[in-house]
Amino acid sequence: MACANREASAADQGGASAPKAPEVVFDQAKAWAHIVKQCDFGPRVPGSDAHLKCRDWIVEQMKGSCENVRTQELSHQWSVTGKKVTMWNILGEQNWKDAKVRVLLLAHWDTRPYADQDPDRANQKKAILGANDGASGVAVLLELMRSVKDRLPKDVGVMYFMTDGEDLGPSLEEMFLGAVHFSKNLPSPPPDYGILLDMIGDKTLEVPIEPNSLQFAPSLTRALYRHAKDVGLEKTFPNVIGPWIEDDHICLNQAGIPTVDLIDFDNPTWHTVADTVDACSAESLGKVGKLLETWLLKDPVFKI
Ligand SMILES: [Zn+2]
Repeated sequence: MACANREASAADQGGASAPKAPEVVFDQAKAWAHIVKQCDFGPRVPGSDAHLKCRDWIVEQMKGSCENVRTQELSHQWSVTGKKVTMWNILGEQNWKDAKVRVLLLAHWDTRPYADQDPDRANQKKAILGANDGASGVAVLLELMRSVKDRLPKDVGVMYFMTDGEDLGPSLEEMFLGAVHFSKNLPSPPPDYGILLDMIGDKTLEVPIEPNSLQFAPSLTRALYRHAKDVGLEKTFPNVIGPWIEDDHICLNQAGIPTVDLIDFDNPTWHTVADTVDACSAESLGKVGKLLETWLLKDPVFKI
């Protein structure tokens, strides 16, 4: 470690050719406040009052950092109630129209209506709070958009996409509803590729390579994990293959937008009532923020 420090300092002082790493301004404390705020609304189940309040709060947050903030409404006849549920994707952009490379960053903001994986049967009909499964990805994106605002390379555009209806269920046919809707109504100009965040807030964060991502988007996935190593995050994003995951990235990949899913599925709180803020970590949010901020600001990584 001392040796690495000495090298860095020599490069700073004399190394005219040494590339300067962009300063990381992502503030994990701010991201943490966003996770707490979302959970304070309660479970964000489509059709609930908390869902509406959280939607409006996310829109207001995004207006501070993004252009063209808007919602995209969709509805679904839900098998659980037999009634129509209204949902809203939330979108905002930075430098989208003028960019040469357009990056879609997404995370779901809705939460699972039932803790169907809870070991206690009495809890299985309760809604989850979704601190990790939902709020963590949104929290990182909200802070990321602040941290890169007015700092993006001029040829890089970002669209932030908070998806709804990802976790409605109960079965896969009634999940990923917002992302499917978006994939059938792609913006113009469309994204060149996407990066999905899901369940990235736990205390022992480790995000292996997700096999669908590698299959659909091999060069993007490899480049992102190479970048993680370059910025010292190889322990959090190890170059190992994890489990196959069905998530919002599948429909985007099928629609021709190569999209990688960053997810730590090895989590005992998944779809249980224990998915609370207590089980999450600001440091983990900070690591994901660092990965994405440096990825967006370091222009050459887009030549993949
Ligand atoms: Zn979930």
